[in-house]
Amino acid sequence: MKFGHDILKQADILATFTEDAPRVTRTYCSKEHKLAGDYLIGLMRDAGMNADYDAFGNIVGRYEAGVPFAPVVMTGSHQDSVRNAGKYDGLFGILSPIACVKALNAQGKRLPYTLEIVGFGDEEGVRFGVTLIGSKAMAGNFDPAWLEKKDANGVTMREAINAFGGNADAWRELDRSGDHHGEVVAFVESHIEQGPTLLNENLALGVVTAIAGATRMTVKVTGLAGHAGTVPMPVRQDALTAASEMILYVEKFCRENENLVGTVGRLSCLPGAINVIPQDVEFSVDVRSGLNEIRRSAIESIRKEFAAIAARRNVKVEANPYFELNAAPCDEALQKQFADAIAAQGVPVRRLPSGAGHDAMEFPTVCPIAMLFVRCGNGGISHHPTETMTAEDADVATRALLHFFENFKPSEFKPESAQRVDRT
Ligand SMILES: [Zn+2]
Repeated sequence: MKFGHDILKQADILATFTEDAPRVTRTYCSKEHKLAGDYLIGLMRDAGMNADYDAFGNIVGRYEAGVPFAPVVMTGSHQDSVRNAGKYDGLFGILSPIACVKALNAQGKRLPYTLEIVGFGDEEGVRFGVTLIGSKAMAGNFDPAWLEKKDANGVTMREAINAFGGNADAWRELDRSGDHHGEVVAFVESHIEQGPTLLNENLALGVVTAIAGATRMTVKVTGLAGHAGTVPMPVRQDALTAASEMILYVEKFCRENENLVGTVGRLSCLPGAINVIPQDVEFSVDVRSGLNEIRRSAIESIRKEFAAIAARRNVKVEANPYFELNAAPCDEALQKQFADAIAAQGVPVRRLPSGAGHDAMEFPTVCPIAMLFVRCGNGGISHHPTETMTAEDADVATRALLHFFENFKPSEFKPESAQRVDRT
């Protein structure tokens, strides 16, 4: 096994750079970010790359092309973690391409493009409540108003970036979209799946078709409070039983379409007394899909059914989407190149959408994107210390990634217009 053991060992070392050992927590612009960054920069330099931090604390390594005026292919993922995280989320997508470059460099082989590996400073958004800070800055989607956001100790993002040794006001210079650079021809990310699909199908690798979009709604159901002992059942206007029917409808609707997932994760009920009929219920709905049309029509159907349930139960309902994020589709031609790279390892090709957000989702404003998923063990658990990846899977994923890099062909691309949306 050429790559697997080394990558797992490196992930173990990175897990020691944590703010709350023995748990793994590493937030943006922390001391541990610096330790992890220095370690990654060391690995990049050992592999034959020029590497350093950029103005936002992103770790950037370049393996220069073998020809002048060559385009750039970007790859990478995030160095930061959620609280009490696993060891592979994000980091695998940095370590795996470094291993590829090391192998290329050992053979004295250069690519017809410059390969740039980025360890984004922040993706998870734990410290400032803004997610994907690094990739937003590099994709030209950064809003400078976020620099004033404060962490739990009252430190602003601007202060944190500057204290880290960066320059918060240089955010414009990080932007790789538009004519002033224009040389980035693809962004590809390898990432642990964070779900059980590949595991359940006994497959090590998958090609991501799209990073799911999401719609979020707050639903308010208003009934009428009354005495739990005196109001007869047929005339009640119980907001909670109406909401229950609505919640079960979300589940049923999303279950019937394999391209959808729907979650009600928050619910409040007032007045909240054992002997009073519930009057005011509020709950959240989060619906995601890799296909925008499917998600939009699901929201329409769900709202229609909520209205019907409310009418039947003589309560009022308001269901208003307050957050909408379109899916980021992966480029067809690059998906095909990943499929070929997977097939070349003797692994059957499985395509699947990503239900979780990733750094790659910011890059459609810059260039075509593609993602490679690697099997997640332990039932597919992620954002948790028991997240696992085997050395065999890390190995075959890295071989597939190397195959992809060695056979990469740029594809046609029209950039999306920049979206300035807080995707927290
Ligand atoms: Zn991640």
